[in-house]
This record gives sequence, structure tokens and C-alpha cells, in this order.
Amino acid sequence: MPGFELFGESEKGQVQQVLDTGVLMRYGFDGIRNGQWKALELEKALAERMQVKHAQLVSSGTAALTVALASAGIGAGDEVIMPTFTFVASFESILAIGAVPILVDVDDTLTLDPAAVEKAITKRTKVVMPVHMCGSMADLNALKAICAKHSLLLLEDACQAIGGSYEGKPLGSYGDLGCFSFDYVKTITCGEGGAIITNNDDFKMNADHYSDHGHDHIGTNRGAEGHPFLGYNFRISELNAAVGCAQIQRLDEFLTIQEKHYTYLKTAIASIDGITFRRIPNGGVENYSFMSFFLPSTEIAKKAHTALSEAGVDACFYWFDNNWHYYKKWEHLTNATSLGKLPQEVLNQLPDYSKANFSKSDAWVGRTISCLIKLSWTEEQVKERAETMSAVLKRVLE
Ligand SMILES: *Cc1c(COP(=O)(O)O)cnc(C)c1O
Repeated sequence: MPGFELFGESEKGQVQQVLDTGVLMRYGFDGIRNGQWKALELEKALAERMQVKHAQLVSSGTAALTVALASAGIGAGDEVIMPTFTFVASFESILAIGAVPILVDVDDTLTLDPAAVEKAITKRTKVVMPVHMCGSMADLNALKAICAKHSLLLLEDACQAIGGSYEGKPLGSYGDLGCFSFDYVKTITCGEGGAIITNNDDFKMNADHYSDHGHDHIGTNRGAEGHPFLGYNFRISELNAAVGCAQIQRLDEFLTIQEKHYTYLKTAIASIDGITFRRIPNGGVENYSFMSFFLPSTEIAKKAHTALSEAGVDACFYWFDNNWHYYKKWEHLTNATSLGKLPQEVLNQLPDYSKANFSKSDAWVGRTISCLIKLSWTEEQVKERAETMSAVLKRVLE
């Protein structure tokens, strides 16, 4: 997945252009920036590649989720439905604006189970936030129908699945809002960065203002601009955006490499008795950033994960025990441990997750191993990896 593996001359060239002007900020300084507007350029390229009207760059993927929610008017006490299997950024962004994260089971797609979503809807629900984990997507058609029925927003977290598609649409563009991360380990990187995409003019305007202290960006005198509503600083720097300008041009090249490596590895283990793969919803095309498969039981999955690691097969993840990606280890959320007092709405409404039953999620995630697909592998390395994986998994499943 990581674009940093192929950091090269085009990235350096883009950054050098910014260094040559010395204007490291995305707004203002029109006279001395020598025509360099890297953040704007990347927003244009991203909107075009994702087939949407608008893109808004921000400082991280977590910021993108926060700004996306804020730009849609989500606030204190609103409920946002999110999966048990994701990155902590999901509930961080929800809590950041005083809203309440409502955790819901995942199914064999390893993303939101539409039936569980429907059950979790209350009169306070405002948003359904599927997270396209490990390169593949939620059943977006079903989720969109649920959102339409209950007048909810569909916000896609496509941070791990940039370049994948669903019913011919780029992931992130199917819902009302989509978010990407360009942190250092994502498919394409800015070093740090993130983006929101949308076809909604109001959401774009709100995101543009909110991510820059509420500045209305009218006129050429920054100090004289109006502030129609409260905002915050989630700006990306021109240096980070410059890296992204180079990387977005390489997205499709990266996807081709990932698909090739993924397909080779999948073919090598597909016929092993006891191995099955995550379900890709009909109409979905992965971005191939991970290959995720199921073992017959949690016990065998643990054994297989250890055996793969001992055999030198690196970058395979057993998420069930992971500190950052699965609800079981989110004791800071369960106990609502925060530095200062949380908003009263959150304290009143946060479900008691110590009593929650997510056995349906456990049944899938406990059996899952996900192997990162690297861009920098040689053909020889992929072949060796496939042989080792196949031999180890056969031995474990004997
Ligand atoms: C990486 C990631 C984020 C957060 O992105 P940052 O840029 O690291 O803040 C959010 N959601 C998912 C699914 C991610 O993988």
C-alpha cells in the first residue's frame, strides 16, 4: 500500500518548486508565489480522478473526517454509526465535534453490516460512516438505501481504499461525502494530509471555510476576510500538497502493481482447503492494498498468523488483537478516558461498550488475516512469498 516506497524524482521536483518560491502556505502571498498553488492543483487533480465536483485538502485523514462531519452540520449529541473494525480516527473525529460514535457489527465484507446498521438507527442518528478497510468496500448500495429511507448522510471513509470503485464510481464518491488520508503509510502519501470529496456545493464551501478558521476566502486581503461561522485550523501546507501532486499522478500505476502482486498471492493460497476470502460486494473493485482471508476458526487464525511471522512473512496483520483497529482494545473509548471533561451529550449518550455484544464481528475478525501488499517487491520476492505462505498455511491447516 505505501506510496512512500516509490518516493522519487517527481515528488522531489514538486517540492523543489515550492521551496524555490518560499511560499509554504496554501493561501495568500499571490505576488511572490510564482504561480505555484500546490494545494489547489492537488484538489483539482483529485476531484477529476474521483469524478466529483469538489475536493478539499486538509492536514490529515482524521481532520478530513472531522471537517466532513462539521461541514454537514453534525454536532453535539448527533449519532454517527461506525464499524467495530476500523482505525481509532473514526470515533476520534466523531467525538471531536461532540457527536456520539455508535459502534455496529461488521460482516464478511469486514465492513458495516447493513442489517446491524438499520437496527442501530434512532431519532438522533444523522450519519452512517462505512470504513472501506484494507482496500475493499462496504455494501454501499444497501447502505445508501438505508440512508435514503431514514434521511441520513452516507460518509465513506476511503482512507485505506483510494482508487477502488463501486458500481463504476470511485470509492469516496458514492456517498454524500468521502474521505481520504495521505499519511505516510497510505497508498498515496503527502507525508501528512487528507481530503474530503463531495458533489455538494454547500459541504464544499463549509469545508473550505471551516478548515481555515472560518475564513470566507473572499477578496485578496486575508486580514479583511469575513468569518461567517466558527472554524478551526486543519490546513495542509504547500510542501505536503506538493508531494501529493506527484503521487496522484502515480495512483493508477500503484494500483496496477498492487493488483498484480495481490493476484499472484491470492492464486497461490486460494485452493488450500480451509482458506476463504472476504466478500467483495457485487459491483465492487478493490484497490488491492491488502489481501484479507479467513481461517476456519479464531484459534487456527492465531496459529497461522504466528506461523507466517516465524517463517519471515512480514506485514501480515491479525486485527483481532490489534491495539488500534478493533473495538476490543479501545478501552479509552469504552471507559471514556479523556484529559478533560467530555461534552455532556457524549457523557449522557455514549453506549456502555463494556456490555456490548459484538460476537458477530468477533466471528469474522477473529478468523481474519490481512497481508499488506507492498509496491516495492520484486517479482522474485512475490514468488518466494507466495511459496512460503502456501507452505505455512497448508501445514497449519493439515
Ligand atoms: C489512516 C486512516 C485514517 C486517518 O488518517 P490520518 O491521515 O492518519 O489521520 C482514518 N481512517 C482510516 C480507515 C485510516 O486507515
